Amino acid sequence: MDPQAYYYQYPMMKEFDAVVQSCQKVTKGYVLTLDHTAFYPEGGGQPCDVGRIDTASVFDVQEKNHVVYHYVDRAFSVGQNVHGRIDWNRRFLMMQSHSGEHIVSGLIHAQFGYDNVGFHLDPHGLMTIDFNGVLRPADIDAIEMLANDVVSQDIPLTIAWPTKEQRKHMSYRSKKALDGHVRIVTIGPYDTCACCGTHVERTGQIGSIKILSLEKHRQGVRLQLICGRKAIMDHQQKHKICAQLSPLFSVPVEGIVTAVKKAQEDRNEKSRTIRQWQDKYIVLKTAMLPSSKIQLIEEDVDRLTMRDFCNYILEHTDCVVAMVVAKNQGAYQYVMASQKIDLKIKVNELNALLAGRGGGQKEMVQGTFRADIETIKKVIQQWNDSL
Ligand SMILES: [Zn+2]
Repeated sequence: MDPQAYYYQYPMMKEFDAVVQSCQKVTKGYVLTLDHTAFYPEGGGQPCDVGRIDTASVFDVQEKNHVVYHYVDRAFSVGQNVHGRIDWNRRFLMMQSHSGEHIVSGLIHAQFGYDNVGFHLDPHGLMTIDFNGVLRPADIDAIEMLANDVVSQDIPLTIAWPTKEQRKHMSYRSKKALDGHVRIVTIGPYDTCACCGTHVERTGQIGSIKILSLEKHRQGVRLQLICGRKAIMDHQQKHKICAQLSPLFSVPVEGIVTAVKKAQEDRNEKSRTIRQWQDKYIVLKTAMLPSSKIQLIEEDVDRLTMRDFCNYILEHTDCVVAMVVAKNQGAYQYVMASQKIDLKIKVNELNALLAGRGGGQKEMVQGTFRADIETIKKVIQQWNDSL
């Protein structure tokens, strides 16, 4: 970590001038170093900045031994003066998110004594935090309220680079034992944490903090959360969904869950009734069939019922092949079953005669014929006569 880096000294810097120190061709473009940079390199669970250096696109930024490497899509000359511009929408969302994460982690640490043992922030602002202790949904609701109170207090975030000696007298959160430069981010009385990420200047800039989910993770829990603009967009999207569902079910928003559950129960009950009727119908229809080696039935039913139909006919009549066809979008879906004939072979012959497609196993095949019903009946009758 370099305390002199622009992204630490001037976290609100969106554009800057610099001089190219080196430029090398690499597999994915060119890698560039500058005498100064405001581009934040990936680190501490926070994605890197992207943006432009002159007309080149900066698509990755990494740091190694205090040197920041900018991955760009075109070459530069050493000594060239350049102008860098950070994709500020993305960077500001990263700052809102990272600062929001500190507030939530600090509050949970203070109230429950749990540590943040894993943090990830994606470039779209979705964060996951793992804690080494169990939290309940009610705890999360309370923490979310408190976190947003800290936002509305508009507290300044303070950044310090204390020496090893000074750190001995400080209390702060940290994921690992630290050496070299250590940067401490403090949010009033709510959190003090060692961190290498970028942050907003005051908590009010976070806008809002929304915890999306809570799930068990190892010995503790994993939270998903979003902040700032991302949280507003999430609210807009979910609000639109609720606003559409509410009139569909003729209930206010708070009644949607009950209405959906009721609709699900009704549908399941209807499905059960239909299933029972279908079973009865299959029994009746089969009882009325004339004796034949191939039983061809035209019936407007779904594929699952076609299969049930075939199986029932085979079991309860002495036919050789049971076959059900159902008209569907100008073609005829078919299902055939037999215990005595290898249908896997026979179906190819039928498909050729009836412009069909499909196949399956020896005992049951299914597919579609693109022929009219009279032609289908004629071909099946010829097959029947040959048996
Ligand atoms: Zn941090």
